[in-house]
Amino acid sequence: METLENIKTRVYKFGNKSADGDSTMKNLLGGKGANLAEMSKIGIPVPPGFTITTDVCTEYNLLGEEAVVNLLTNEVEASIDTIEKSMGAKFGDKENPLLVSVRSGARVSMPGMMDTVLNIGLNDEVVIGLANKTKNERFAWDSYRRFIQMYGGVVLGMKPEYKEDIDPFEEIIEALKHKRTIELDTDFTIQDLKDLVYDFKEAVKKRTSHDFPTNPWEQLWGAIIAVFNSWNGDRAVYYRNMHGYPADWGTAVNVQAMVYGNMGNNSGTGVCFTRDAGTGENVFNGEYLINAQGEDVVAGVRTPQQITKLGSERWAVLAKVEEDERAEKYPSLEELMPTIYNELNGYQEKLEKHYRDMQDMEFTMQDGKLWILQTRNGKRTGFAMVKIAMDLLKEGTINEKEALLRIEPNKLDELLHPIFDPKALKSANVIAQGLPASPGAATGKIVFFADEANKYKNSILVRIETSPEDLEGMNIAKGILTARGGMTSHAAVVARGMGKCCVSGAGALKINYKNRTLTVDGHEYHDGDWISLNGSTGNIIEGKVATTEPELSGEFAEIMELTDKYATMQVRTNADSPNDAKIARNFGAQGIGLTRTEHMFFEVDRIKAMREMILSDTVKGRKEALKDLLPMQRDDFEGIFEAMAGLPVTVRLLDPPLHEFVPHQLATQKDLADDMHISLEAVKSKVAELEEFNPMLGHRGCRLGITYPEITEMQARAIIEAALNLKEKGIEAKPEIMVPLIGTLAEFENQEKIIRETAKQIFEERNDSIEFLVGTMIEIPRAALLADKIAQSADFFSFGTNDLTQMTFGYSRDDAGKFLPIYIEKGILKVDPFEVLDQEGVGQLVKMGTERGRSIKPDLKVGICGEHGGEPSSVEFCYQTGMNYVSCSPYRVPIARLASAQAAIKDSL
Ligand code: PEP
Ligand code: MG
Repeated sequence: METLENIKTRVYKFGNKSADGDSTMKNLLGGKGANLAEMSKIGIPVPPGFTITTDVCTEYNLLGEEAVVNLLTNEVEASIDTIEKSMGAKFGDKENPLLVSVRSGARVSMPGMMDTVLNIGLNDEVVIGLANKTKNERFAWDSYRRFIQMYGGVVLGMKPEYKEDIDPFEEIIEALKHKRTIELDTDFTIQDLKDLVYDFKEAVKKRTSHDFPTNPWEQLWGAIIAVFNSWNGDRAVYYRNMHGYPADWGTAVNVQAMVYGNMGNNSGTGVCFTRDAGTGENVFNGEYLINAQGEDVVAGVRTPQQITKLGSERWAVLAKVEEDERAEKYPSLEELMPTIYNELNGYQEKLEKHYRDMQDMEFTMQDGKLWILQTRNGKRTGFAMVKIAMDLLKEGTINEKEALLRIEPNKLDELLHPIFDPKALKSANVIAQGLPASPGAATGKIVFFADEANKYKNSILVRIETSPEDLEGMNIAKGILTARGGMTSHAAVVARGMGKCCVSGAGALKINYKNRTLTVDGHEYHDGDWISLNGSTGNIIEGKVATTEPELSGEFAEIMELTDKYATMQVRTNADSPNDAKIARNFGAQGIGLTRTEHMFFEVDRIKAMREMILSDTVKGRKEALKDLLPMQRDDFEGIFEAMAGLPVTVRLLDPPLHEFVPHQLATQKDLADDMHISLEAVKSKVAELEEFNPMLGHRGCRLGITYPEITEMQARAIIEAALNLKEKGIEAKPEIMVPLIGTLAEFENQEKIIRETAKQIFEERNDSIEFLVGTMIEIPRAALLADKIAQSADFFSFGTNDLTQMTFGYSRDDAGKFLPIYIEKGILKVDPFEVLDQEGVGQLVKMGTERGRSIKPDLKVGICGEHGGEPSSVEFCYQTGMNYVSCSPYRVPIARLASAQAAIKDSL
């Protein structure tokens, strides 16, 4: 078989202040590999190692294990040799052993989604050499048992079989603790650790029918291949799909000399951030543990200590620990090891300056020497994202355009979620407090297992600690609560990445998975009980707490103001009520792009008149009913125009199929018959008459206005009269009347004529007039194809990409839920085209429609009002198409404003 032609070098070395690669090579070396190379180059002490490129992952998927090992052998052996020289130790040596780690590293960070194996190179002989070399027998055997545990889980598939089971190795540990009546891992004697190694190996043999591999090289290759395999593991695939990362990116593999944080009290390990990842505050912060390995900090089993004194003092307040106790039992690294702290502080400053963004770093102190294991742009909450971007701008580190490009539009969603109502909070019963791991307000019913998160509409996932397997459930839950783990535990890091409210390390909680109970201070809570979490304070509250609407303020308002400086395409909103219009206006909407008038007819006081109109067989009868509807519609429009005073408001004429308005239940049909003084049979037969085989392609849109012109007439009257009424009050209304679902020019002209004649008549009646436009939705493919014809008459176009997607794909909007998830799972579609505009297909019609329309009217106003108008990649597409505006739901207005500014900035670069 052939190898990929373009692969020349498969392995890139780093360490000793030099490197083959650098930070520009993320696609090839993965984020971690590229950063290790870059750090090494700028003089940061990273343990030496090498990176196997992402291309090799693709090669592995094509060629398989044997071929890839053959291709790599020479380069990997030579690179191990370099590491050996630089660390002064030898891989597999019985006297002076070098141990290595093997870690995944895709071009984007996928925390916990792929596999890592530490301590590779240990066996029954090497462990003795390691004990002698470090003069620490306990450390050597502890490393060995950890290695078998990790390698067993990752490479040999030793995982729990059922969700209620615990890890097979943990089970052995628990059994030994029970037998020895001890509680902590640290209570094990050296003999206990040796027994664990023996028992672990027996368990491996029993479950896999093979001996645990003793040859270090066999171990190394096993781990490398396991990392490649983990790229296609369930967790990684789920994460990739969630973020839309393609499968062919592959992961790199980083092999690096092990350094140890668990070599005694002069060693330790930690995680730190150059700024606060939750709030964005510019304070160096992080956590460490003395005499521990990296996974101890992240796994949340031991409660870590703070790096800075300030952080430690703040932690003590939350944890209700007195200052004396804090200083003695939980000192910060700054207090405990000032020299190392100063060195670390120097590196964090250097790294943030170098990368010009908040860094998330991991470090290890081995016997008094500091090693930086990795740095990356830190994941952060939406709040922190906005604050950090604005702060970096004010500090002069980045410019305005960069600040705007640093904001992920979708992440602004977090700032637009409700917050707890301060009044409701006053009477809330706080049952316990944990760490404010990821801000926000969450209320929901307790679930204890990630795969049960969708059991309730709103659930709170309550776990002792979370692991990567819980990812899907964490995503579904409204909030996450853990009993263990610090601010950098898995739960905290992942929740912040998802922008999900999380309270971690609430030690007062006793969680029993078997009984599905949570006990706090003797009070028991069960699966399905309501609780609320405040991710900003760490408070855990009994029951449901009311929430209020968010506001645009502080740095959020500043960044939004900045968007106006760069955005050229406007953002309007889809709003059917004055309240929605007000919310959107507060978020900066520059008008309304779509008012769906039918929504107004569903309200209790109107539906009756609407039904009478639909059910009457004569024009006269319909006109009577419409007369009742007219003042209500006029009031609606006055309210909306007033909320949007001075800004354009696009009002769409009635669109949905009429059967949506008639009663389908016997009791309501009877009521209607009584009200109208007709027989139940007459109502029933009319309802049956309205049934359609394909209502989405049936009697709806302009087809209604064409068959029942009196409806269009009434709506046009309500709009124009509302605008005139406001004019009398000195309020400017700018109506844009929109005809839905046209496919031919004649359809449009038919409706336009009714609208203009109605307006003319009203102007005469009132001896007054206003300016207004008459335009159309472009939502049927034929309308896009014949846009040049339609533009002869239409004042504006608004792309209704919901229907345009439906009719271009031929997927029913109402039924696509049955097969789209399977299409996405099978890779037939990458994303749901009703969420993300299909630029390749539907996009062609949008482009063509715009171009053809403007070929007749060069300044034709063009917008979009389908759901895509608030989706960032679709907004960018609309900008490139030359649209005047996008229109989206009120809560997406800030997101669309940012996406619009970003599109213009990208265009200018
Ligand atoms: C559309 O089709 O995109 C649209 C905005 O109209 P509706 O969703 O009401 O059909
Ligand atoms: Mg539509």
